[in-house]
Amino acid sequence: MKLIPLPAFQDNYLWVLHNGRRALVVDPGDAQPVLACLQRDRLQLEAILVTHHHPDHIGGLEALRDATGAAVFGPARERIPEPLTRVAGGDGVDALGLRFEVLDVPGHTAGHVAYYCPDVDGTPLLFCGDTLFSGGCGRLFEGTPAQMLASLDRLAALPGATRVCCTHEYTLSNLKFARAVEPGNAELISYTQRCEELRARDLPTLPSTIEQEKRINPFLRTRLPAVAQAARAHDAATPPDEVGVFATIRNWKNQYK
Ligand code: ZN
Ligand code: FE
Repeated sequence: MKLIPLPAFQDNYLWVLHNGRRALVVDPGDAQPVLACLQRDRLQLEAILVTHHHPDHIGGLEALRDATGAAVFGPARERIPEPLTRVAGGDGVDALGLRFEVLDVPGHTAGHVAYYCPDVDGTPLLFCGDTLFSGGCGRLFEGTPAQMLASLDRLAALPGATRVCCTHEYTLSNLKFARAVEPGNAELISYTQRCEELRARDLPTLPSTIEQEKRINPFLRTRLPAVAQAARAHDAATPPDEVGVFATIRNWKNQYK
């Protein structure tokens, strides 16, 4: 199986997974790069997986479906162009001979879903849309901090080796913020260096892994004393519970330059 992040717009990745003959694509905000990839590698598009309704994730959906006849799977509770198979937590999606488990991960949008396959050539694989980024998480456009924290907990509980396919190249700016939250986290320094080297060569910093994110992503680390302390230092009114800490870190990131 080959996993390809196709760059689109400013900083999106349209993830393509293929077996040399058939392909699936996740969140095709633009049809053109996907069609070019299908043509170049002589692939037939079998399935389109959608995580949430934002235009940069569905903009190319109809053109791709019209051009290829691919089956579309998307969140049950969001406005996605019909026809599609609507899926929610616990459902399975079969594509390329693989079975993806659908996870409900509300927070960025109310009906956001993620797709998890426990075994792609021996390694688990996660398509998480705009829920989890390397070093960060999605903005809370439609959900509450409690919902997003629960969604991230769900993802953090996946096997450490899980490859995490995020839909934006936000890593370096996320890591800058992460260093402000946790200046004492040595792993953050070495990970930042590795990511800077990749970006200098115009290469993606993704996929990440769950294991990696647990070591460096402040949004997966809100229960650590150092992170809670940083939240309180930023905003003395931070409630003592984990949701309160998470909410402060998220707000802080929204304002951070
Ligand atoms: Zn989005
Ligand atoms: Fe997005």
